Amino acid sequence: MARRVRDEVAAGVAAMAETTGMTPGLATVLIGADPASEVYVRNKRRACVAAGMRDLHRQLPAEASQAQVTDLIDELAAADEVSGILVQLPAPAQLDAEAILARIPPAKDVDGLTIANAGLLAQGRPGLRPCTPSGVIRLLDEYAVALEGAQAVVVGRSVLVGKPMAQLLLERNATVTVCHSRTRDLAGICRSADVLVVAAGVPGIIDGDAVRPGATVIDVGIHRGERGLRGDVDYDKAAEVAGLITPVPGGVGPMTIAMLLVNTLAAARARHGADQP
Ligand code: NAP
Repeated sequence: MARRVRDEVAAGVAAMAETTGMTPGLATVLIGADPASEVYVRNKRRACVAAGMRDLHRQLPAEASQAQVTDLIDELAAADEVSGILVQLPAPAQLDAEAILARIPPAKDVDGLTIANAGLLAQGRPGLRPCTPSGVIRLLDEYAVALEGAQAVVVGRSVLVGKPMAQLLLERNATVTVCHSRTRDLAGICRSADVLVVAAGVPGIIDGDAVRPGATVIDVGIHRGERGLRGDVDYDKAAEVAGLITPVPGGVGPMTIAMLLVNTLAAARARHGADQP
């Protein structure tokens, strides 16, 4: 499915180049050399090139100052060939990540993390939406999972995943419950879910006991261990009970990258007056 979305974007990029002469460009910004971040950025850049977009990646050393980073963001903000800017987080500890994100113009904020885009989402107005939760909605739609009136439970309330996920489900008229580290009876609440989205960052926190028979389970978690990647859901146990379940690796991760491309194309179209769907 992620491949199909990427192919759709590639067709959109080609059409845009033909009609406007403009090719969308994605500027990924990596500060330092965190191994996981390097992998994420490499995958995003590859997908961007495969979709026919311009890879405008920029790298800064781990010891970069706040001024160096903000100067770079300002340069990318002003550059016409840059349709989207993505600062790979986490940033090194000496930097103020919120201040860096605040420099990104909302129209180029393809990660949907600026306060302006988060505010638009909170108000149910159009804007660039965070890639991981929009990828989850796309998956649910593709598998015709009914959201209207459904009980949806989101485990996690981060700005990156949990909160926008809950808002997108609400926008689709699900009845949404958000769980977090202070939630009592997590398993009991999860068992009430028709649609359970888990983004807690705790390996295997959800097992079969926390899944209602036939429920749809979306595992956002990613953990690198000795035996490869695993998620927040104990897949084997939950899969015995669930109606539909996403694997890790291979479920939400590829959709996140696909939606980054969707957002970059959308940003480019809005910028160059080529707003066709
Ligand atoms: P995060 O910022 O650490 O947030 C985790 C959330 O889970 C917090 O709201 C926290 O509650 C809640 N939580 C922690 N322990 C819990 C517990 N025992 N019971 C219930 N809730 C608990 O993490 P994140 O950025 O949202 O990411 C979550 C996971 O998704 C991570 O594994 C991350 O690697 C993965 N991820 C994957 C993708 C992808 O493309 N597949 C993208 C982004 C993130 P409090 O608010 O109370 O602390």
